[in-house]
Amino acid sequence: NSFAESELPSEVLECCKAFDKPSPIQSHSWPFLLDGRDFIGIAATGSGKTLAFGIPAIMHVLSKRKSRTSKKVNPLCLVLSPTRELAQQISDVLCDAGKPSRVQSVCIYGGTSKGPQISALKSGVFELLPVELRILLLVPWSLKDLMEMGVCNLNDVSFVVLDEADRMLDMGFEPEVRSILSQTCSVRQMVMFSATWPPAVHQLAQEFMDPCPVKV
Ligand code: AMP
Repeated sequence: NSFAESELPSEVLECCKAFDKPSPIQSHSWPFLLDGRDFIGIAATGSGKTLAFGIPAIMHVLSKRKSRTSKKVNPLCLVLSPTRELAQQISDVLCDAGKPSRVQSVCIYGGTSKGPQISALKSGVFELLPVELRILLLVPWSLKDLMEMGVCNLNDVSFVVLDEADRMLDMGFEPEVRSILSQTCSVRQMVMFSATWPPAVHQLAQEFMDPCPVKV
């Protein structure tokens, strides 16, 4: 119930310095996520859910960094979001939150020149990857295309966030979500946020996740 209790490094908590204490969704999710467990949160925008998964994602990258020798890395965390606006919003929060610990993120969506996205992917400097899924269906330079070109390798992704899962499925992205998940590391931690809990979201969670039910 306090930032001190979370025992997170000060550079990771730098982005929270304007807040008095973790929001309810943060104080419920952090103990599970920081312990490497899967987590499903039914939470709306404005609840602080971005940092609820963002801070554990940064910690995940930092824990992998310790055992890494090469500077060039494939993405380690992947955030799937239903719209470009939301992906950009998440990316802004993650870029800011990751800055003190030098954890970088790249936001990929359609409608921009492919050049900068490809050079960011090729340089391998980013580790968190918020993605706007619509591009997989609507524009040519989507994550799927980038993967097919061999520019984006998801094999090292071991922390996956499905944000607004209900909306993603409502928008018809289920085949893309499944295809992307199948390309990530088989041993991975998964986080799902959804505003509602319809059968399709429940089914996806049952197939891909191993959450431990707790009553709060
Ligand atoms: P969300 O879209 O759910 O990530 O919520 C984002 C909003 O919650 C932003 O205005 C943040 O500044 C705010 N926020 C995030 N964490 C906290 C916190 N621990 N205490 C108060 N506000 C927070």
